[in-house]
Amino acid sequence: MNTRKNHAYLMADYFRSYIKIFPHKISQPNFKSILPRLTMNKIQIIVTVFSIIFMSCTEAQQKEVPTFMNNQKNKYYSTTDSNKLKVSNEEWKKQLDPLTYSIAREKGTEYAFSGNYWNHFETGLYRCKACGQALFRSNGKFESSCGWPSFFEPIAPGTLSYAEDHTHGMHRTEVKCGRCDAHLGHVFDDGPAPTYKRYCINSVILDFEGENEVSKTSAAKTNSTDTATFGAGCFWCVEAQLLQLNGVLKVISGYSGGHVKNPSYKEVCTGATGHAEVVQVVYDPSILSYDELLAAFWQTHDPTQLNRQGNDVGTQYRSVIFFHNSEQQDIAEKYKAQLNKEEVFHAPVVTEISAFETFYKAEDYHQDYYNNNASQGYCQFVIAPKLEKFKKVFKDKLKK
Ligand SMILES: [Zn+2]
Repeated sequence: MNTRKNHAYLMADYFRSYIKIFPHKISQPNFKSILPRLTMNKIQIIVTVFSIIFMSCTEAQQKEVPTFMNNQKNKYYSTTDSNKLKVSNEEWKKQLDPLTYSIAREKGTEYAFSGNYWNHFETGLYRCKACGQALFRSNGKFESSCGWPSFFEPIAPGTLSYAEDHTHGMHRTEVKCGRCDAHLGHVFDDGPAPTYKRYCINSVILDFEGENEVSKTSAAKTNSTDTATFGAGCFWCVEAQLLQLNGVLKVISGYSGGHVKNPSYKEVCTGATGHAEVVQVVYDPSILSYDELLAAFWQTHDPTQLNRQGNDVGTQYRSVIFFHNSEQQDIAEKYKAQLNKEEVFHAPVVTEISAFETFYKAEDYHQDYYNNNASQGYCQFVIAPKLEKFKKVFKDKLKK
């Protein structure tokens, strides 16, 4: 692992603009106390020495994590290929089990209250069981009494296709998988805000992919917690900082935004999996708002560096916000534009803002890294100073 060059010490100008954008969210820090007693050169030498020592420690600590088999359900099933499929019904009959075939290709309907997902509220992703395309997210699902899984929005606008359905003497809109044309169900105009749509979908045609540990938070049921996903370089540093905030319930280090299932740390470090090192933050929105969390996120790293943080170079260290719904997307885009307009940083903010798809929890030894390894050189000389600075900036928002 490379040394993690500390983000340039923030200047008074920076904070004046920052506070303008995030008013009442952060306190004016005492700059004299933040400025290091040592010069940057000295710090860099110490950090380099300790990182070299530390590098050998982490290599020794790394365990091989089994790479699970690709979850290949049939020859057309893919979680990465989004090209439209042209497959005959004859061929689908060979690939799908009879029940799935009857729904997908013969527009069947399962009995109400009979499927696996009508009453299912774990955090994760629902894919098309025939072709693997991601269709819905758990946070687009709501509790309806109709007996079928009900969603108020698909994962992205182009995910589904629609057709008029005049069977059974009714006028309905049929919903199909945009990739393989499988019949999924129907969409009605009696759903909840913000879309007022109810996508009434057969459980049989859905394949649920749970989000490792961030599940059963019952967020979908009670709205008492919310989830945010950020990449800001080294996840150890980001985790240690965000854990300080009051209202943050859980921070899990992991990988997101790539195309390889269940990647290992080693694989992600090559930069070839497309994943970013991210933290999954479960928080209580009644205590801490998404706006405040974003202010903290942008404070944890240097968002003007493209695909790197200091000496950590590669897309796995990119600055990225994976939004879980359109509200998070709007807020993130608004603040990013504002940070650039006000020239808060010395260069344009390059933070990527993308739709959240899947989160893979990192290996156990990455979790709560700072607290478990506080005596390590890297923690003392790289994470600890960042943490001190972070605590000063957000002193009114810390856990008591
Ligand atoms: Zn499909």
